Amino acid sequence: MSGTEEFDVIIVGAGPAGLCAAMYAGRGLLKAVLLERGVPGGELLNTEWIDDYPGFEHVLGRELAKKMTDHATLFGADIRQVQVESIFRRSDGIFEVATSSGVTFEAPTVILTAGGTPTKLDVPGETEYAGRGVSYCAVCDGAFFKGETIAVIGGGDAAVEEADYLTRYAEKVYVIHRREQFRASRILQERLFANPKIEVIWNKVVRELKGGPSGLQSIELDDTITGVDSSLAASGCFIFIGFRPNTGLVKQHFEHDSSGYIITDDRMMTSIPGLFAAGDLRVQLTRQITTAVGDATTAAIAVEKYLTERRTRVDQASVGV
Ligand SMILES: Cc1cc2nc3c(=O)[nH]c(=O)nc-3n(C[C@H](O)[C@H](O)[C@H](O)COP(=O)(O)OP(=O)(O)OC[C@H]3O[C@@H](n4cnc5c(N)ncnc54)[C@H](O)[C@@H]3O)c2cc1C
Repeated sequence: MSGTEEFDVIIVGAGPAGLCAAMYAGRGLLKAVLLERGVPGGELLNTEWIDDYPGFEHVLGRELAKKMTDHATLFGADIRQVQVESIFRRSDGIFEVATSSGVTFEAPTVILTAGGTPTKLDVPGETEYAGRGVSYCAVCDGAFFKGETIAVIGGGDAAVEEADYLTRYAEKVYVIHRREQFRASRILQERLFANPKIEVIWNKVVRELKGGPSGLQSIELDDTITGVDSSLAASGCFIFIGFRPNTGLVKQHFEHDSSGYIITDDRMMTSIPGLFAAGDLRVQLTRQITTAVGDATTAAIAVEKYLTERRTRVDQASVGV
């Protein structure tokens, strides 16, 4: 399949942000297409239980994903299963979105909602126990470990801050770091060292995550200096060794922070006119479903206004005003 299709707005990624943007675009009677490489739902499909989405005290990730997809479809969302390969803005202000199917989608606006990818340890057991002890999100999963012994892997701001947060629930939190000092900011380190529930294990790397039918049971470690191996009993392992926003699709320069998160204005517009960003790949304090759908709501409504202003500019130019 090849060729070109034209739209008012192209939404890239059907996680909570993309599905919400598609719903609002549908309500706004925009000609929109939502491009998703997998099944709609994004990170909701990688977690069993979702907490703290207003109206749902506790809901299965896949159930919320289905409800959001059905809601977007009700408002006419045109969802295509296709991998986006690049996003390029031409000099006439039209975006060309190239996909793996060979079809190029064109529109004056794009909402990028492609989320991000937590860096994996890439050790045996990590995938097997994901959602059954292994987690990449303290706010999301911390409450499942009340009174238990868990470990945090990493040494940057995220690891140190989240370890402190996790002591609200866990009885004991080990922080496992491959070096003998943290990269995290001094203030976060001070808070961590003052917390009696936290114990730091220096100079160790994870070799394997082991468990049974009920989930994770132990973390197998290697000492980076002596090479001696050891085993730590833990029912939870929170991995914070990096999170990469999925922004490599954008082929032109855009403003971002030092970690690569996209900077937007209060309309969610990036430094590239007509390119909007919403959800986990945007610079923000926290990354939750509520923040993703909030961003997306703003972005979809801002797209409507941008299109109206653009049409006015084009009409005026054509009559020589
Ligand atoms: C284990 C875990 C548990 C969590 N639990 C909670 C919770 O309980 N409560 C809560 O509020 N939040 C929770 N979160 C956070 C929440 O899931 C995210 O903040 C939210 O999903 C972000 O939505 P998003 O739409 O920005 O991105 P995502 O959900 O990551 O969706 C991005 C979508 O873009 C697609 N995509 C990426 N690249 C391309 C491409 N090139 N072409 C086409 N499609 C592409 C992806 O396939 C994906 O579907 C959890 C996160 C994790 C990892």
